[in-house]
Amino acid sequence: MLRVEKLCAGYGEIQVLNDVTLHVAFGEIVAIVGANGAGKTTLLRVIMGSLGARSGSVSFDGRRLSGLAPHRIAACGVRLVPEGRRVFPALSVEENLLVGAILRSRVEAAREMERMYALFPVLAERRRAPASTLSGGQQQMLALGRALMGRPRLLALDEPSLGLAPIVVESIFRSLAELRSADTCILLVEQNARKALALADRGYVLENGRIALEGKADDLSRDRSVIHAYLGGEEGREAGA
Ligand code: ATP
Repeated sequence: MLRVEKLCAGYGEIQVLNDVTLHVAFGEIVAIVGANGAGKTTLLRVIMGSLGARSGSVSFDGRRLSGLAPHRIAACGVRLVPEGRRVFPALSVEENLLVGAILRSRVEAAREMERMYALFPVLAERRRAPASTLSGGQQQMLALGRALMGRPRLLALDEPSLGLAPIVVESIFRSLAELRSADTCILLVEQNARKALALADRGYVLENGRIALEGKADDLSRDRSVIHAYLGGEEGREAGA
């Protein structure tokens, strides 16, 4: 499983994460919810190795990730679907997917590609199109497909619903539900707390870089402070979307 223990991290003078401790077991989907600037992306940066920890540790499947270079962390089966998708706009759908299979053989890459096209048929239809011509939702599917091409054992997602219409968010979250498997951990960072907690098994609330609350996703979605801070406002946002 993924284990984050007493993690502190930040940028220059700014300390963003303070003693963050959490875990994600194989087979679980765990949501991290929190407001803008709570430190969610920073947490993912440390897990992925693009930002060093000041103290504390991150380990996955018994192996310490803290201190490893990002490509070594990727080789441990860890993949991120970044905020804002970050697909390669000039590359075709197929080429974007192949980038995700860089550590795999040709035969494996071809097999994974077919799996992605079965999961996201619209990507198969647009396989030769430059990624820049896809809609936001299709780009999100492509970013997810690219990460899945590496058959991750830890899949981290940063705000997959951001900027997408509710109907598209539904479809992305349905795909995530299909990805649940006994040998994979999924860590889902979301401002859309309602959607994230509806999908996840457990959740953590990150406030100002600290874990303010943790528990079963069902319990968190009924918690008054969570409803007040993260679910009430969202209803309005969704209704207005
Ligand atoms: P959002 O949903 O807006 O992305 P977040 O919970 O992911 O929010 P972070 O992006 O982790 O939050 O940011 C946490 C804090 O760290 C914020 O105050 C932000 O301004 C600051 N921060 C983020 N990146 C940097 C950076 N590269 N240099 C300095 N400060 C940063």
